[in-house]
Amino acid sequence: MGEMMEDRINMSHGAGGITTAALIDEVFKEAFGNEYLNTMADSTVVPGADRIAVTTDSFVIRPLFYKGGDIGRLAVCGTVNDLLMSGAKPLYITAGYILEEGMDISDLKRVTASMADAAAEAGVQIVAGDTKVVPPSDREDPGVIINTAGVGSVREGISIGPENIKPGDSVILSGDLGDHHAAILGARMGIANEISSDTAPLCEMIDRLMNSGITVHAMRDVTRGGLATVLNEMSDRAGLHIRIEETQIPVDPGVREFAGLLGLDPLYMGNEGKCVIILPAEAALRALEIIRGSRYGERAALIGSVTEDGAGVTVRTAIGGLRSVGPLAGEGLPRIC
Ligand code: MG
Repeated sequence: MGEMMEDRINMSHGAGGITTAALIDEVFKEAFGNEYLNTMADSTVVPGADRIAVTTDSFVIRPLFYKGGDIGRLAVCGTVNDLLMSGAKPLYITAGYILEEGMDISDLKRVTASMADAAAEAGVQIVAGDTKVVPPSDREDPGVIINTAGVGSVREGISIGPENIKPGDSVILSGDLGDHHAAILGARMGIANEISSDTAPLCEMIDRLMNSGITVHAMRDVTRGGLATVLNEMSDRAGLHIRIEETQIPVDPGVREFAGLLGLDPLYMGNEGKCVIILPAEAALRALEIIRGSRYGERAALIGSVTEDGAGVTVRTAIGGLRSVGPLAGEGLPRIC
């Protein structure tokens, strides 16, 4: 029992007493400590902005650790990227940890250290947190679920959303499709390959784009459901058609081969460090240059344009045919994020 107290999460870690306080000190304050979090108040008071963007997300991914990332890095990147897509500068994150009884505390420390690294890279502070302990679900190794909130500031005059999309706009994809999906699926199936998840915060890329003076009409990160689903949602909300060129869509050769073997279409595979940007055609080449010159944007490509042919998404295939692509139907890969 004494060993259990030190190495693994037990119910007393969630009881709110001395053991909880020790866990918070040893794991969370150690990794995340900053002037706001360290107040340990019931709520944290932080400097704000006139216009704020707010988002929330939950991370249930299995395995907890995978090639190219882990649940802690993913929690920061997923939250920060959602803020960026509204044109916000990410500022603060909260983290609620649902710990399963029996989880290795060393694994928890790896997760929090990675989360702290990703937050530092993204320039956000983790300003509030919570821990709860629940009995393990019997089907998996005991692990952790992380819920976050993210807050960012939005400059006056910035308005980004599908309602701004115009006929003639260009569509830019910030890099290769499918890496995260393929890495998680490969790990689950025990397949050894070189595929690494793209889990990354897109702060530098979006910051440079927003500060370039270029007008951006709409942005989305390409996560669950893949590019096809995201473009369909944008097209629906804009009431405009999006036409993409299959030959222009970047996919890593290893991911393409893996997807082919499993009968998966990269257009429906999830990423965690890619976004699609819709903006006026006259700004597209300059935007592309900025994105390609930014971290995680080296493989960005101009993949299509917006037309007036009614809502929907069409892909022009390599052999020149036109294929209508709908949003993901049915179930995607579960617990991918
Ligand atoms: Mg999103």
